[in-house]
Amino acid sequence: MSLEGRVALVTGSTSGIGLAIARAFAAEGCSIMMNGLGEVAAIHKLRDALAGETGVTVAYHGADVTKPAEIADLVAATQKTLGSVDILVNNAGIQHVDPVERFPPEKWDAIIAVNLSASFHTIRAALPDMKRKGWGRIVNIASTHGLVASTHKVAYVAAKHGLIGLTKVIGIECADSGVTCNAICPGFVATPLALAQIETKAKADKISMEQAGRLLIGEKQPQARFTKAEQIAGLAVFLASDSASNMQGTALVSDGGWTAQ
Ligand code: NAD
Repeated sequence: MSLEGRVALVTGSTSGIGLAIARAFAAEGCSIMMNGLGEVAAIHKLRDALAGETGVTVAYHGADVTKPAEIADLVAATQKTLGSVDILVNNAGIQHVDPVERFPPEKWDAIIAVNLSASFHTIRAALPDMKRKGWGRIVNIASTHGLVASTHKVAYVAAKHGLIGLTKVIGIECADSGVTCNAICPGFVATPLALAQIETKAKADKISMEQAGRLLIGEKQPQARFTKAEQIAGLAVFLASDSASNMQGTALVSDGGWTAQ
């Protein structure tokens, strides 16, 4: 069954993986609600380019997903402007790297809010209408860090493990409703979120960005190259397709062998 005419709301789609996911759903003929932070004129340009490339309707809402009231407005605005939320991709994410003793409590709060609690709030708001219609797809962008730990990422690892737990609960609560809820666990993807970590390593070890990138990936992934944002987007489209209608509460891994070890 085609996704044409469905409406996809993708949080954090002004950059990186989220933008690739918005592009992929637009290419399938879905109307898109973009969301994310950043300079509004630049985001409007992205929105217009996506609409121009694909011919679908693309809207933008600047909700800060740390704020439940703004999330409620994001979902309501999507339903009002585009007709519904058929596909919900919880993708917005942030990172902070520090040993636990030096981890700023405000960074902990922000990471839990964006990377975990936001998905609870979007799902809470979007699910009743999906269930009423008997069709819906929820895709949560987790991480290998939802399955295994790394040092100095206490909030991120806790949030992503929590997101996989949340995915399982929604998956079984939706079991026979026509709505599915699944997660995707990417390894390293070359987006601003990962590049910031490479930059920190390059500065600390006084090496080039390229060397730092190779070292960072090499520590974790047998396949020593970045996963592409478009590959994650392809998995999101697959999870929304009819082929995946029997998948509930799973976590699909695309990590170059990181978690197979
Ligand atoms: P990115 O920095 O390129 O994009 C993050 C997006 O989230 C941006 O659009 C940003 O505006 C948005 N965002 C951040 N805080 C927000 C807030 N408070 N309200 C609304 N939007 C907000 O990062 P990315 O790498 O594309 O990350 C996307 C997702 O993929 C995240 O959940 C991240 O944890 C996950 N992920 C990334 C990698 C990687 O290596 N890049 C690996 C595994 C998982």
